[in-house]
Amino acid sequence: MKVYIKTYGCQMNERDSEALAGMLIRAGHEIAQTEEEADVLLFNTCSVREQAERKAIGKIGYMKKLKAHKPELIIGAIGCMAQRKGEELLRELPHLDFVLGTGQLHKLVETVEALRRQRKQLALTAESDDVLTEMGTHHTPAGSPGWHGQIAITRGCNRFCSYCIVPYVRGREISREQSDVVAEATALAAAGVKEIMLLGQNVAAYGLNGDTNPPPDDHSPFADLLEALNAVSGLLRIRFTSPYVSYFNRRLIEAMAKSTKICHNLHLPLQSGSDRILKAMNRQYTRESYLQKVADLKAAMPDITFSTDVIVGFPGETGEDFDQTREVMNFVNFDNAFIFKYSPRPGAKSASMSDDISQEVKEERNQILLADLKSRVEHNLDHLINTVQEVLVEGVSPRNAERFTGRTVHNRVVHFEPDATLQPGTLRQVKITRINAVSLFGELLPEQGR
Ligand code: SAH
Ligand code: SF4
Repeated sequence: MKVYIKTYGCQMNERDSEALAGMLIRAGHEIAQTEEEADVLLFNTCSVREQAERKAIGKIGYMKKLKAHKPELIIGAIGCMAQRKGEELLRELPHLDFVLGTGQLHKLVETVEALRRQRKQLALTAESDDVLTEMGTHHTPAGSPGWHGQIAITRGCNRFCSYCIVPYVRGREISREQSDVVAEATALAAAGVKEIMLLGQNVAAYGLNGDTNPPPDDHSPFADLLEALNAVSGLLRIRFTSPYVSYFNRRLIEAMAKSTKICHNLHLPLQSGSDRILKAMNRQYTRESYLQKVADLKAAMPDITFSTDVIVGFPGETGEDFDQTREVMNFVNFDNAFIFKYSPRPGAKSASMSDDISQEVKEERNQILLADLKSRVEHNLDHLINTVQEVLVEGVSPRNAERFTGRTVHNRVVHFEPDATLQPGTLRQVKITRINAVSLFGELLPEQGR
């Protein structure tokens, strides 16, 4: 069968879709490039924000027309919203054939094949550890993985931040065996992957069996994993997202600083810079302890850069609370930030609090943080003019076929003149000559030793 997969939401969902595509191909199915040519339509949904859910429901609703022309079409909703709504979704969207929650994704192939034999509506939403071990396949449209590969190292979350639906829709936190992760990374490296991105809701809690108390200073299974991955030959760069700040103990910071492949660019979610709001969010750190970890990381890796997630308009957020968030963001000098306007999520603890900050104020705060970010980025990039940056070549720019792009270790996109002999995944030196809003432009330097 030809299966079309549409993905909403985060990188973990993208990774899940990629693994599912790999599983389908192994079972003899094909990946369709368009909805029209597909026998099966899959929507991998997200629940983290209200808007993401609305988008997916709207899209699946729209597929009713297609199904009216093609009654044999099988339509499935998978992932977080499928987990949250279960059978309710089948009632809301009667043309939907099946719902597969986050703990049952590994059952996709058998579900689709069973439905082909016998049509009925199906909802599978139980939690299962098998999803952890069986989702290691990789697939890209080109057939080979390319220069970049993502590896899920944990699933679920035990932290229960008060605004967040993830622990309810992705279940309890579980970690893969170190040997499994290293084997996946080794296989990717053997297939030509140069950069890996480790994924999890709280990657730094890897291997702690869901314990929400950060470990003592000399213990970090995540550091052990990073060291093992650093030794995988062929890999050039290792990145990860997202870690929770409290887990950056001495052991982990030292492992990062010593490794030659871990990029000194850290996505470190802040959410708020106000202690009062952090407490209401059930984030178990304060502004001071967050800033202390940032200082420890900078002391060990002076070139480190940071990006973050922030929520504006959490219930009760005053102008003063917001100013504190702004202050911390400018102080840390985040050079990228995902800014979210708070939306109550059913089942999460904050849903019982009054969503008392108006949409207008949320938007205003969002715009202020975006403007701050823009000026910080301009300032930071300005300093890079005339420097030489090591760039991992990604290939022809997706926006402009006349250019090549790559990324610095600090995750900055660099544009340069095309060079047909240059393979994606190669490291090259580029002299930065100018900047625009968020990118760098430069000249490729001759390869060393030539
Ligand atoms: N596990 C990651 C976050 C996953 S959700 C972490 O802890 O960093 C991604 C981001 O969505 C969060 O960091 C948060 O900023 C945002 N988010 C989650 N729930 C939200 C809500 N109810 N309203 C607005 N933003 C939300
Ligand atoms: Fe959600 Fe908090 Fe878990 Fe991140 S750490 S997924 S924000 S509950």
